[in-house]
Amino acid sequence: MPTPVLTTIAEVRAAVAAARRVGRTVGFVPTMGALHAGHAALVRAARAGAGFVVVSVFVNPTQFGPAEDFAAYPRTLEADRALCDEAGADLIFAPTAAEMYPAGSLTTVEVAELDGVLCGPARPGHFRGVCTVVLKLFHIVSPDLAFFGAKDYQQATIVRRMVRDLNVPVAVRVEPTVREPDGLALSSRNRYLTPDQRAAAPGIYRALQATRTRARTGARDVAALEAALHADVAAIPGARVDYARVLDADALRPLTLLDRPAVAAVAVFLGTARLIDNLLLGMG
Ligand code: AMP
Repeated sequence: MPTPVLTTIAEVRAAVAAARRVGRTVGFVPTMGALHAGHAALVRAARAGAGFVVVSVFVNPTQFGPAEDFAAYPRTLEADRALCDEAGADLIFAPTAAEMYPAGSLTTVEVAELDGVLCGPARPGHFRGVCTVVLKLFHIVSPDLAFFGAKDYQQATIVRRMVRDLNVPVAVRVEPTVREPDGLALSSRNRYLTPDQRAAAPGIYRALQATRTRARTGARDVAALEAALHADVAAIPGARVDYARVLDADALRPLTLLDRPAVAAVAVFLGTARLIDNLLLGMG
């Protein structure tokens, strides 16, 4: 049976309440649609962990800057539905912007500090938009478990902190990044790449892997690791580096020495596409 698509908050609440009445736990996968195998992996993880799986498909206007790709962001609801059928979702919530943000909405959610690095400075207001919509969706769906991708490492870190700080009764699960065979992280934005840019893009993951290899073979000086990562990413044909950082994996703070779990994270423009990727660095 095709996954039902509901558009109102009231309908979703009623469907979730009905599932709960028959004893099902609720798993939730928030997305902006244009779904791919990375999203499918999240839906499958939700399917494995919960009795009733809700996927939201909402291109959230408040997390896009004025010069960003909100209007151009791909909207592919029919294909999204087919992917949800296949991966085992029970319900798609695809609200309008008016349903999510009725006139007069004034309240937002901001997680301090963690939004001051990586994508934060380049995308002012982005994480406020993400946190606000994710908390609203949590209140609408009231899931037991919510699934996020490691590809958006800073987002997952911020959502976890929001949930902890605001005592939101949901367990956040972060699932591994799904990649193309050549290493490029799947992203709805990969479709913006020209063939040449697509051919160059796996260099991002190779640069992250090289950083991990340096860390595994004894490199401890974070400034040197960052410089090498930056140089490797900058050497990708056509790339313009936004950032290439090695940070404390939990606090997202700068490090001098690689003496604790760290994350290597990059953002790079290839043409109009801004691609992000990251890798956790093991020690020793
Ligand atoms: P999006 O709709 O692309 O903004 O992302 C919705 C969710 O899917 C987020 O939790 C993302 O981190 C996750 N996601 C996106 N791409 C991937 C990927 N390649 N592998 C795993 N999860 C992903």
